[in-house]
Amino acid sequence: GCGICPKKCPFSAITIINLPTNLESQVTHRYSANSFKLHRLPMPRPGNVLGLVGTNGIGKSTAIKILSGKLKPNLGRYDDPPDWEDVIKYFRGSELQNYFTKLLEDDLKAVVKPQYVDQIPKAVRGPERSVKSLISSRAGMDNLTEVCDVLELNHLMDRDIRALSGGELQRFAIGTVCVQKADVYMFDEPSSYLDVKQRLSAARIIRSLLRSDDYVIVVEHDLSVLDYLSDYICVLYGQPAIYGVVTLPHSVREGINIFLDGHIPTENLRFREEQLTFRIAEGTDDFMADKSRAFTYPSMEKKLGNFRLRIESGSFTDSEIIVMMGENGTGKTTFCRLLAGALKPDSTKNVPDMKISMKPQTITPKFEGTVRQLFFKKIRSAFLSPQFQTDVVKPLKLEDFIDQEVKNLSGGELQRVAIVLSLGLPADIYLIDEPSAYLDSEQRIIASRVIKRFIMHAKKTAFIVEHDFIMATYLADRVIVFDGNPGIDAHANQPESLLTGCNSFLKNLDVTFRRDPTNFRPRINKLNSQLDQEQKLGGNYFFLD
Ligand code: ADP
Ligand code: ADP
Ligand code: MG
Ligand code: MG
Repeated sequence: GCGICPKKCPFSAITIINLPTNLESQVTHRYSANSFKLHRLPMPRPGNVLGLVGTNGIGKSTAIKILSGKLKPNLGRYDDPPDWEDVIKYFRGSELQNYFTKLLEDDLKAVVKPQYVDQIPKAVRGPERSVKSLISSRAGMDNLTEVCDVLELNHLMDRDIRALSGGELQRFAIGTVCVQKADVYMFDEPSSYLDVKQRLSAARIIRSLLRSDDYVIVVEHDLSVLDYLSDYICVLYGQPAIYGVVTLPHSVREGINIFLDGHIPTENLRFREEQLTFRIAEGTDDFMADKSRAFTYPSMEKKLGNFRLRIESGSFTDSEIIVMMGENGTGKTTFCRLLAGALKPDSTKNVPDMKISMKPQTITPKFEGTVRQLFFKKIRSAFLSPQFQTDVVKPLKLEDFIDQEVKNLSGGELQRVAIVLSLGLPADIYLIDEPSAYLDSEQRIIASRVIKRFIMHAKKTAFIVEHDFIMATYLADRVIVFDGNPGIDAHANQPESLLTGCNSFLKNLDVTFRRDPTNFRPRINKLNSQLDQEQKLGGNYFFLD
């Protein structure tokens, strides 16, 4: 099998993985002896958005650093690095020769939105720390007002950047790049911390930077955002932390499908054994959903500071996943905490006492010890169960770092540990707040499958907050739509079907989706395209199949 499903399944078609034999002669950069190696480079094209997709640790940020001129590629000669002249000679005959020549002669100015926005406040020196002073001092084009409007920065203008939340910092960082006069704009993972609406706004403002002679490059793990943003795509494959290979450019649909298939037809090359798909019906006969138990929660209200949340009463069953969809600040986490009993509702009515396991949105490791020791301490019996190992631990690939100290883990590793911890506790209800944060596209698909399979097999219920729309619709049996004014006055609707819930959620965002016919991946229609207009007229913002 593919190591994910206990039974034979459509993903288990194993093929020998064949790699190009001439890779050794195509090393673009190697950090040091025995360290990660990047082969080839993505090829930026003027007037186009180039999207990069690939797992964590495969060299995307390395490629961005090289293309921005911040990192001189050493062509593998880490002990005797070539000078720029040799580098340019190496790329002779390709578009990269021209690109690097211009970059060096300062004809090209490159600006980068870094991957880790949390580190921005520390890097800012000098007395000027307000959002307004920082962003206006960079503004070199006449789009400052538009950028601040679209990215919802206006109410943050007087804020010290050390006081910004993750999502606010992300929008600030994207905005700061978008207002600059440059020739190359690069965005390393722009959707982290953003909700669906903000992801689309960011995508639109990034696309608005395109002129016939500038370059835009984006690394992105949210495949609907990547799809919407890009004009063409380079896939990075290989072995994380060991080596990465950049493919030739492909059309957006082809590029994303190559990534999902794990196969490059034009090179007759397979780089992953299993295919990743989004068929909603996947394996439904595997776990005949047994929804014999029903539960309800009462209507509730909660005031927190200036924020007021009203929740309609609702009911749910076992073997069911309910996904919460709504903008940041509309009370999704608050709702989880009310259900979990961590917060009391303002009315006298109490939430029925159910056994809850919760994966919080933010994960701050305080545990002293290794991952294995943590599991033995917190979820010993699940961790020792062969079924749990097969269904949860193995597919999430924790063996690579199970004996490392918890406090040294990367964001994506911590997220997977947190998912395992929450599923490993015995409970009736699993509350999983933003499981995709820090995960790459491949890990997101695997994590979704793990969660779905676990909930169905264990006949439990999960409430999940998720902004990656592909993941959210894959997971959801039903949805709760949150609406209202973020941070002020919000409202959680009753759980409803995936179709009606997505329809009202997407209508509010003015976005329509279609489905890819081959792997059932939801795809955003381009604004005002023929399909977009037709679907809006018919009120079909979302399709089930
Ligand atoms: P991605 O952005 O695709 O997640 P990166 O380009 O950041 O991947 O990193 C690729 C690999 O290179 C990782 O294994 C990372 O640990 C390693 N790496 C990144 N920067 C350095 C560095 N300065 N020195 C040594 N190794 C590095
Ligand atoms: P979401 O998870 O949908 O992004 P949250 O439930 O985290 O939203 O927060 C909703 C709103 O409530 C936010 O504006 C947040 O700042 C506010 N809020 C959350 N907790 C508190 C608190 N303890 N005191 C005051 N305001 C709070
Ligand atoms: Mg990166
Ligand atoms: Mg939240």
